Amino acid sequence: MKHTSDVVIIGGGVTGLSTAIHLKLQGVDQVTVLERHHIGAGQSHRAAGILRGLVRDESLSRALVESIDFFKTFDQRFAVPLLLHPTGYLLLSESTQAAIVDEVMAVSEQAGCRSERIDARQAQQLQPGLREDDETLYVYEPGAIHLDPMPTIQALLAVASQMGVTVCEGCEVAKLAVQGERFVGVDTSQGRYDAHQALVATSVWGSNQLAQLGVEVPVYPHRAEMAFFHAPWASDFRVSRILTDARSMLYLRPEGQMQMFVGWRESDRLHGVEDMVAEDPDHYRQTSHFESLADMHRRLAITLPPMARGFVHRTYACVYDYTPDGLPILDRVANVEGLYFALGFSGGGFSLSPWVGRCMAQFMVEQKVPADIERYDLKRFAEGRVLTWANVDPSKDSV
Ligand SMILES: Cc1cc2nc3c(=O)[nH]c(=O)nc-3n(C[C@H](O)[C@H](O)[C@H](O)COP(=O)(O)OP(=O)(O)OC[C@H]3O[C@@H](n4cnc5c(N)ncnc54)[C@H](O)[C@@H]3O)c2cc1C
Repeated sequence: MKHTSDVVIIGGGVTGLSTAIHLKLQGVDQVTVLERHHIGAGQSHRAAGILRGLVRDESLSRALVESIDFFKTFDQRFAVPLLLHPTGYLLLSESTQAAIVDEVMAVSEQAGCRSERIDARQAQQLQPGLREDDETLYVYEPGAIHLDPMPTIQALLAVASQMGVTVCEGCEVAKLAVQGERFVGVDTSQGRYDAHQALVATSVWGSNQLAQLGVEVPVYPHRAEMAFFHAPWASDFRVSRILTDARSMLYLRPEGQMQMFVGWRESDRLHGVEDMVAEDPDHYRQTSHFESLADMHRRLAITLPPMARGFVHRTYACVYDYTPDGLPILDRVANVEGLYFALGFSGGGFSLSPWVGRCMAQFMVEQKVPADIERYDLKRFAEGRVLTWANVDPSKDSV
C-alpha cells in the first residue's frame, strides 16, 4: 500500500513527537510519525524526566529554560493536562569546586535560569536527611521540574493527534529512498510512504539507518543502570527534590510517595568514547549487576545517610545514545535534499525535546539552519569543534 505525506518523522519518541507538533505549529500540512513499536517505546519511556537549567553553557541553558517553559505552559497552551512535578533541584558539590559552581550559576542566570547558593540548614529544610559537612556546597534551582515520562509522551501524542498529525505504530522503516540527490520516501513494514522531507529521530538506531546512505554519524550505544530505591521501611523519610551529588556521582528524583529514581551521573564516569559500554540496543541485559547496585546503594547513603536503611525496589538498564562530546547532532544529510536527523542526545533528550522540536521544524520549513543549532552540526567532529570532552578537563567539570 502507498501513502503520501509532506514530512515523515521516523521515531515516535519525544524528539519525533515534539518536532511533529512544531511542524504543525509552523504550518506544515501533512505530517506523519512512523514508529516501529508503540509510541514512546525507545529511550523516552525510560527517562527520569528531569528538566533543569543549571548547566555550564549559556546557549544550552537557554534551550533548557525554553523547554521548561514549554512544559509549564503546556496545559494552558494546548488544553491537554500534563503530570508535572515542580520540586526544584538541589545540587550538591564540593567546596573545592566553588569557582566552577559560581560560573555555572552565572552562565545559567544569563540564560534566565535562577538559582541560589544556600547553606546546610536551608538545604536540610528543602530535603531533610541530606549529608552535612563543611566541604559540601549547596545550590538550589527552584524552577526545575520533573515529568512522568509515559504520561508526558501521551500528552504530546494527544496534542499531535488533535493538530492532525498522522501516527502509525508498529510501522518499521526499512529503507530511506533517495532519487538522485533528493529524498523521496521510505519503505516500511506497512508499505511505501512518499514524502518530500524526513526527520530521522531514532536515537540509538539512527546511525545504522543513515549508514545505509553512506553517512557516518558518531552515536555510540552506551548501557547504563538505574534503580528505584524505597525509603527505609516504617520511616517518615521521603525524597522531595531532584538531587545531584558530585561526591556520590548519582542523580535522583522522587518516585511516588515512598520511592526515588536513582541513576549514575554518567558524565562523571565517562571521559571519552573508550569508556562506553557498547551494547546492541535491541539485545542487552535489562537489570543491574549486583556489584554495581551495591555500589549505588553505598553511594546513595553518602548523599542521603538515612537511605543506608532503604532498600532496592527494582532495577533496570537502558542504552543511551552518546556522541563523542555528549551533545546532540542536529543536522541534515549534506548531499541528500530533504533528509534531516536529530540524534545523539547523550542522556539529555527529554529535557531538550521542546527546543529541539522547534528548531528542527524551523530548519525543515525554512531549509536554512537556525542560528540556535548551528554548532550542533555533524561536521564539528571532523573539524575538531567538539564541544566538551575534547576541550574541557573533565576532572574540573564535576558539578
Ligand atoms: C534511564 C534514563 C533516564 C533519562 N533521564 C533523562 C532526564 O532526566 N532528562 C533528560 O533530558 N533526558 C533523560 N534521558 C534521555 C532521554 O530519555 C532521551 O534522550 C530521549 O528520550 C530521546 O528521545 P528520542 O525521541 O530522540 O529517542 P527514543 O525515545 O529512543 O525514540 C526513538 C524511537 O525510534 C523508534 N525506531 C527505531 N528504529 C525505527 C525504525 N526503523 N522505524 C520506525 N521507528 C524506529 C524506536 O522504537 C523509538 O521509539 C534519560 C534516558 C534514560 C534511558
